[in-house]
Amino acid sequence: MSAKDEQRAQRVHAKIWGTYRNLALQSCLIPECQSSGKVIKAHSIQEKRVLRSVSNNGHVYMIKSTAQGFAFQLVGVRKATRFTGFCSQHDNELFDKVDLGDERSINPNDPEQAVRLSLRSTACEYWKKLNAQIFFRKLLQLARSGDVPSISEYINLDQVDVSKSLDYVISVAKSRLDGFDFAVKRIGRQFMSLLHQLESGKFHLSKFSTIRLKTSPTVVVSAHFPPEYNLSGKCIVSKMTGVDLPEVTLNIVPNENEVVLMFLWHKRYEQLFRSFFHDLENLKEAKRALILSQMLIMQVENMALSPRLVDMWEDQEKSAVLDLFKRTTNVSIPYLTDWNVDLFGIKSC
Ligand SMILES: [Zn+2]
Repeated sequence: MSAKDEQRAQRVHAKIWGTYRNLALQSCLIPECQSSGKVIKAHSIQEKRVLRSVSNNGHVYMIKSTAQGFAFQLVGVRKATRFTGFCSQHDNELFDKVDLGDERSINPNDPEQAVRLSLRSTACEYWKKLNAQIFFRKLLQLARSGDVPSISEYINLDQVDVSKSLDYVISVAKSRLDGFDFAVKRIGRQFMSLLHQLESGKFHLSKFSTIRLKTSPTVVVSAHFPPEYNLSGKCIVSKMTGVDLPEVTLNIVPNENEVVLMFLWHKRYEQLFRSFFHDLENLKEAKRALILSQMLIMQVENMALSPRLVDMWEDQEKSAVLDLFKRTTNVSIPYLTDWNVDLFGIKSC
């Protein structure tokens, strides 16, 4: 590929990435939702008790993609982590019990609370994957029909660039769409399983690991992801397309004088994850915090960091975090043995 072609490919890639990240499907994820309530902008990480526990002057840091690459950006807590995946009625019915307040705190041993929080994490991920699926399906259809003006409008890219990169757009859209089709199916299945568990009030299909850290909150999370390596650096999941990918949900919430990390996975992955989390629980606190920090940077996007933590970092620590985040956007790697940035502030205690 010539330097000119490479630059064009980069421009196309940036526009595709930028457009699909900004799509926001407005539709309730509950199958055949008949509610007359409007779809609302709801927080995937609760604002009042959770996001605000790490905020400073009403803002948190999130890692965002910018024209200059990934960067820490201050985001107002009213807007941070919102998504439009539920109507007001279903949002209320499903999450009122885990909207923590002065009167209601988290009970780390209550499976219903863990399943509700996990449903919200899974829903947000499912919603993001549905957005991507819709985007790449439309892009592929336009590219295959050679409709240059429509593609140019759809991804806001110069018509000359579009016409010279149709084959490239087709190959990117096709490979991405295959991946997202599979992810939608997989995460959709987990979403439905959690929903059925809440309807039946029976939680035996969910397995848990809870880690409690005696520290003040510096990072909060609501996420759904596959932990791909164990602590010895061995890959524990199959990378083959079409093979089920074992995933966990993670919620990190503040509790009285502690921070609680609640992991949940489906019973069918019990054998795989029980030993992973057993090893993790047995690590010394400072070491465990460093492994968990890497896990968040490598696998979690829906994460809010406290300015009290990030503003204390030297430039070197900030770039180490951003570099690792960037390195692992499309591939995963084993945990690094020389990692020393702690997102939980345990090391310095
Ligand atoms: Zn609904």
